[in-house]
Amino acid sequence: MTPTARPPYRRIAVEEAYAPAEVLDEYRKVLASGEADLGFVSLMGYFLGSDHPQPRGVIERITDLGERRIADMDATGIDMQILSLTSPGTQVLDVETAKWAAQLANDRIGEAVAAHPTRFAGLAAVGFEDAPSAIDELDRAVTQLGLKGLIANSHVKGQYLDHPRFFPILEKAADLGVPVYLHPQTLPGSAIRPWYEAGLDGAVWGFAAETGLHLLRMITSGLFDRLPNLKVVVGHLGEGVPYFLHRIDHMHAKQVASGRYEAIKPLQQRPSEYLKTHIWLTTSGMPWEPAISFARSVVGADRVMYAMDYPYQFVADEVADMDALPYPDDEKREFFEGIATRVFGL
Ligand code: CA
Repeated sequence: MTPTARPPYRRIAVEEAYAPAEVLDEYRKVLASGEADLGFVSLMGYFLGSDHPQPRGVIERITDLGERRIADMDATGIDMQILSLTSPGTQVLDVETAKWAAQLANDRIGEAVAAHPTRFAGLAAVGFEDAPSAIDELDRAVTQLGLKGLIANSHVKGQYLDHPRFFPILEKAADLGVPVYLHPQTLPGSAIRPWYEAGLDGAVWGFAAETGLHLLRMITSGLFDRLPNLKVVVGHLGEGVPYFLHRIDHMHAKQVASGRYEAIKPLQQRPSEYLKTHIWLTTSGMPWEPAISFARSVVGADRVMYAMDYPYQFVADEVADMDALPYPDDEKREFFEGIATRVFGL
């Protein structure tokens, strides 16, 4: 089957990046200031500073919400993209600039959804450091612009979503019934150094290390016990966490029993069970049958859905590979369409 052949399902890709050109200009200012984190210099310094055709192609595509993007979707058989503000989103900007960037991204994505309602849906950005305004912006984006979730590009200047300052924002997402998409960014502060000096800080491994940590912090902090209606979607097949679930459960139980860490307290469920009750996985950047089948086997076929990771990992052949996954047709319909439709309320 070629990617453009019509399968008996709509292909929805749920982790597809967008950036307003004006936000990229703000990133250039941060880079020029000489005060940016090494992680931001590694990530956006490359994409905005390199003359290589790979990063240039990404930047050319990432600001488009019209013909260019839709032509790429048509060429690869993607019926709908769920758009979100690219990593690191608002989360490297100062408080006021972050609020401005979130509103701009949400307005633009809202306009694209209104212009192409069968091709685009979108997630809301917020400036996380000002929780009251973040709550208002999330409410506006969901109730007025029709956006379908909240994008969190992992840590906020070294703070994670289990920090109490972010609780009201997550509570708002839960109250609105929309999921939080936990998306990677580079490791914070000096933590990135061992990854960076080896060239392993980006999507190759560092993102998964960072975002897997973030997902586990959300679980072990008891966040899902305090917010039982919170839904989290995480890409890259769970950032390595599914492969470690047995060991995580085993060691967590030991740590609870021994009282070794103040931060580790009893939970209502084993850590692994939250991946079956509150968390959904996507295949962004991981179009690899053995890993997809393993993830489905441990969290359930009803919790793993398709994402491409456009334009960072824009590989036409992967759609045909995903069409050829060895699952029954009804499960493939769920993988490409059904799960995303329910989780994001499309
Ligand atoms: Ca991505």
